Amino acid sequence: RAPETDATRQPEDVADATLRPQTLADFTGQKASRENLSIFIEAARKRGDALDHVLLHGPPGLGKTTLAQIVSRELGVGFRATSGPVIQRAGDLAAILTNLQPRDVLFIDEIHRLQPAIEEILYPAMEDFQLDLVIGEGPAARSVRIDLAPFTLVAATTRSGLLATPLRDRFGIPLRLVFYTPDELRQIVSRGAGKLGMALTDEGAEEIARRSRGTPRIAGRLLRRVRDFALVAKKEIVDRALADAALSRLEVDSHGLDAMDRRYLRRIAEHHRGGPVGVETLAAALAEARDTLEDVVEPYLIQEGLVLRTSRGRMLGEPGWRYLGLTPPSDNLA
Ligand code: ADP
Repeated sequence: RAPETDATRQPEDVADATLRPQTLADFTGQKASRENLSIFIEAARKRGDALDHVLLHGPPGLGKTTLAQIVSRELGVGFRATSGPVIQRAGDLAAILTNLQPRDVLFIDEIHRLQPAIEEILYPAMEDFQLDLVIGEGPAARSVRIDLAPFTLVAATTRSGLLATPLRDRFGIPLRLVFYTPDELRQIVSRGAGKLGMALTDEGAEEIARRSRGTPRIAGRLLRRVRDFALVAKKEIVDRALADAALSRLEVDSHGLDAMDRRYLRRIAEHHRGGPVGVETLAAALAEARDTLEDVVEPYLIQEGLVLRTSRGRMLGEPGWRYLGLTPPSDNLA
């Protein structure tokens, strides 16, 4: 998958934090989540308590890590980040938890990939700020209870359905992030261009926004690629034509769909007459992990109506047929 349009994190994103908004006011879009957070943050600050635990769910690249950092900054507390797959042993989590200062934010990315045994340790930590550890083995083993500083767990997951119910229930503030509108992305792209010291016209920003798959991470990446293109082409000002030329070169089409999206849609149209077809079958045929299809590829295609998720499997929607320039079989219109 081309890194330009795959919304999952790439090394260059970690290196370039220039585009990350630093405050809630600087954070564009996600109005509902932003308003909720702002109220709960103010209340926690007034009471002097730790903020209730926050669960952020939504496709990659929509701003979950960014929001977690903003929460700690707005609360004026420390920020510690880790991720589900990184925590291998109970001791790893215990070390992190016992090092937290009162009211600190602990961010756990990909929390759905936490091992069940480690999840068990997290429950009393979240609920009572207590850690129950077993020390030693066999007859000499004994359990100790350690008091923790009250802290806020901010967790991120691509799909909250992947979480065990008892874990999900322990988050007082569950927030769902949604794809950004073209207008919100245009604002993000314009602001980003300013931060990068780039002269970008409104139409140029609109073009990049329209082709970013509703995702700020992709918008940021496309913006940097367009900047490179302008530099080499010796253009001082980036307008729509220049943005279009740069993006077409990256094989990002005018809908913002990339090569993987097109392979996925064509597979359903050409091999399954528009479906329904099971996601496992598609994953095998496209040589992609099922999780990648469900977390990265499908959410945007479904939101745009190109694909429908039915009880019998995936089906091509009418816009999907139109996008491919094909006519659906008359007996198979979803
Ligand atoms: P996630 O954790 O959901 O995968 P991130 O928080 O890492 O996503 O955000 C991905 C990139 O998109 C970051 O580089 C960030 O700068 C940018 N970004 C995310 N949300 C916004 C926003 N609302 N406004 C501007 N930039 C954003």
